[in-house]
Amino acid sequence: MSTTELNSLDLLTFPVWIVSPHSEELVFANIVARELMQGLCFSPLRKGIFSTHAQNDLTMYLSDLRNHHSIVEILTVYRDSEKIAMACRLSIRTLPDVGDVILFEGIDTPTAQGLKASRSANYQRKKQGFYARFFQTNSAPMLLIDPSRDGQIVDANLSALSFYGYSHDVMCQKHTWEINMLGRHILPVMHEIAHLPGGHKPLHFVHKLADGTSRHVQTYAGPIEIYGNKLMLCIIHDITEQKRLEQELERAALRDALTGLLNRRHFYQVTEPEQTHAISLTQDYSLLLIDTDRFKSINDLFGHLKGDEVLCALARALESCARKDDLIFRWGGEEFVLLLPRTSLDVALNLAETVRATVAKVTLPGLPRFTVSIGVARHEPNESIDELFKRVDDALYKAKNEGRNRVLAA
Ligand code: GH3
Ligand code: MG
Ligand code: MG
Repeated sequence: MSTTELNSLDLLTFPVWIVSPHSEELVFANIVARELMQGLCFSPLRKGIFSTHAQNDLTMYLSDLRNHHSIVEILTVYRDSEKIAMACRLSIRTLPDVGDVILFEGIDTPTAQGLKASRSANYQRKKQGFYARFFQTNSAPMLLIDPSRDGQIVDANLSALSFYGYSHDVMCQKHTWEINMLGRHILPVMHEIAHLPGGHKPLHFVHKLADGTSRHVQTYAGPIEIYGNKLMLCIIHDITEQKRLEQELERAALRDALTGLLNRRHFYQVTEPEQTHAISLTQDYSLLLIDTDRFKSINDLFGHLKGDEVLCALARALESCARKDDLIFRWGGEEFVLLLPRTSLDVALNLAETVRATVAKVTLPGLPRFTVSIGVARHEPNESIDELFKRVDDALYKAKNEGRNRVLAA
């Protein structure tokens, strides 16, 4: 930015201060900003009665600003000879001959719409003080809600506006139930919280943003009396990424890392009779226990990595044979289980034969063909999983003894 370019900032209707971070000296202030200073230099604006900042020393902001983190400060400025608070968004620029400078852009903080008119003026005046300090400068999105009016949003700090993507005016026309996926079902929860003296433990909700996307949020809400108005302060913490990781971990905990098939832990989960989704599985199902033949020799001759490749190829072959509702597990090592819901022994035997034949046709570059032996059993009423496994294991053992690459029923 050259000097003439700086002068063009005089055309703006909002104040702009350009400050050297090291000396806190003013490099430039546009006309609107100069009017708000009443002849003062810049430093007193950061030290006035409303002034609020996270760092005393402006240089401490430099690394965050370079990483485009949002920083807001409140300056104390003069309007009509009265001191007022002015929220400013900070950003970094590099000027020729000067180097890095910090740009303070004044942000108009519109009046809150929600409060009753008689109280609003009082509230607005007070809003310049303590309230501005904790509310506007906080990097956590915060909403002020009026529970007596259906959860009307009365005020939102800058961080909330940028999180939800609404202007202050639009945000303050909304009710909490309009941004919550629960819709009006949220209202009883809100009323409950409004009566708890210390607020509530964090709750998880899904909130809608202006762009139509949704985010998982953890909210901390509690009643707060601000200048005579009984409101609720709601602090919002975006936990979408945390949720995604949680789901990924949950998924990973039930899957085998090598083949991506379900693991033994998942098997016990779905066959546990107490599990609601297990009901259809625990009735009338059959089981295939599949063991790779002479797998140890594949490892011994071609190495463990090639052995892993065989296991993955086998997993894909099993997937190609399984029907829509069948579940495929890596039972351990080179053993797999196919759980076939609502399947008779005959159908299970047919499917096992298909698996055996399919595996026998799998070819992998540089490796000989390989085969599987399969034990098949149908779950008897009231039979425990251990008893079922004992039977199917015996059938598999027989299949091995009878020469491998074969299917035997229990
Ligand atoms: P059988 O026909 O009697 O089943 O012979 P087998 O060689 O398949 O049986 P055994 O139980 O003697 O050997 C299984 C081998 O599987 C031994 C073990 O090192 C290997 N194994 C188990 N898990 C893995 C794995 O994740 N990767 C690889 N590459 N090998 C594994
Ligand atoms: Mg084995
Ligand atoms: Mg084996």
